[in-house]
Amino acid sequence: MKKILLLLSLAFLIILPAFSQYQIITGGWVYDTETKSFKKNSGIYLVNGMFGTGKENVTNWDVKKLSEDDYILPGLIDLHAHYRVSFEGKAYDDTVAMPKIFLANGITSTFPAGEIEPEKMWDLQEKIDAGQIPGPRILHSGPYFGTAAPDWDPDISESAIRQRVDEWAKRGAYGFKAKGVTAEQLQVLIDQAHKHQLTVTGHLNSGYRNSINPQEAIAMGIDRVEHFLGGRLLVDSVDAYQSLKSMDPSDPRLDEIIQLYIENGVYFDATLATYGAIGMVDSPIFFDFAIENEYFTDFTLDIIKSKNTPSAFNELCALIYPVKQGTLKRYYEAGGLITVGTDRPLLLDNYLGAGIGGFFIHRELAAMVEIGIPAGEVIYLATQQNSEALGIADKAGSISPGKWADMMIIRGNPIEDINRTRSVHTVVKGGKFYSSHDLKNAAKGKLGPLVVEVPDEDQ
Ligand SMILES: [Zn+2]
Repeated sequence: MKKILLLLSLAFLIILPAFSQYQIITGGWVYDTETKSFKKNSGIYLVNGMFGTGKENVTNWDVKKLSEDDYILPGLIDLHAHYRVSFEGKAYDDTVAMPKIFLANGITSTFPAGEIEPEKMWDLQEKIDAGQIPGPRILHSGPYFGTAAPDWDPDISESAIRQRVDEWAKRGAYGFKAKGVTAEQLQVLIDQAHKHQLTVTGHLNSGYRNSINPQEAIAMGIDRVEHFLGGRLLVDSVDAYQSLKSMDPSDPRLDEIIQLYIENGVYFDATLATYGAIGMVDSPIFFDFAIENEYFTDFTLDIIKSKNTPSAFNELCALIYPVKQGTLKRYYEAGGLITVGTDRPLLLDNYLGAGIGGFFIHRELAAMVEIGIPAGEVIYLATQQNSEALGIADKAGSISPGKWADMMIIRGNPIEDINRTRSVHTVVKGGKFYSSHDLKNAAKGKLGPLVVEVPDEDQ
């Protein structure tokens, strides 16, 4: 009996978190969400994984002192954070390297924007939350709604869509993503998701061949839109990419769709930088700043080298990138609501240009600053605004008492140079400190397939 008790108490010791529950971070500079600028850090209190006020009845605070050159930001939120890897027509969600790479880059929360293997992603989230493996928070999107989901039946009934929403909402999804749905299906998805107070976003199209233009989706009550603003300027005689290519972002008629977003409080996630990367646009933003090839498995690197041949899609994205830049600038200046997401699945069958998800958020931030959005504002969008868009502003987005103690610490002031967000050295999630360097080392050589079978993708 004594032996069992001893074993039980040992087990209890092991599951205790290996960090102090009461910490004060002093020194350095901290991002102030109110003024969108940095101020001297007068002390950040961490209490049981949340930000505290300092008025807690605690005597044994563990003090961590930062240097004068340290800048503290709320943990970044990536609202289009794919874990997906696909090659040779097969697809899976990477739960080995991607969680470490996201966290190492200061991303403490991810919305996967359509999970290929939702069961596996739930399992991953449970292991991360239990502290068994390092990774960001997984704010589940659940499976895709639409033909992008391997199990999607194009003739799915209305009640089956409602059931699918209910099932994943019950499991704890934070929102849903539509891709490849009909107008009737999207309307049912939005209606049912809203019954659970959950948001819906969509990868839509121009309206070409019965696809949905964001303009129609806004009328249906969609909450967020990915990639293209849509509207009448995005003509429906060709698909969205072909249409976007020849759009003039200075056309006054663009105001009509921008106003529609503003009037309806709909968020737009431009996923801007990925188009520049795929288009292989010549800009310092797209330089390989992290020697990212080190993160791939040998097998993956071989595939990338053998398929590293630009296609018509790369040329198309090179034409689209300046249109997207101009459109987002107009939208921002008009006062449109912007969210930040990266959209970097590892699709080994198509060359998507350099840049792994996780690292890529720094390119997205820099790309937004390049079109004229102030750096302090861009940080706000990737933290507080993203949390509001997903309906989690009570838990995330700023360094405020009662919220999750999620932060990233970088070197140098990112307001002066947004590229400094890449210098993240420490990430704090739920009050636990992680070394960015150690997380990166643990992910090196692990991203992408080994020579093992992955589940078939029906698409
Ligand atoms: Zn995507």
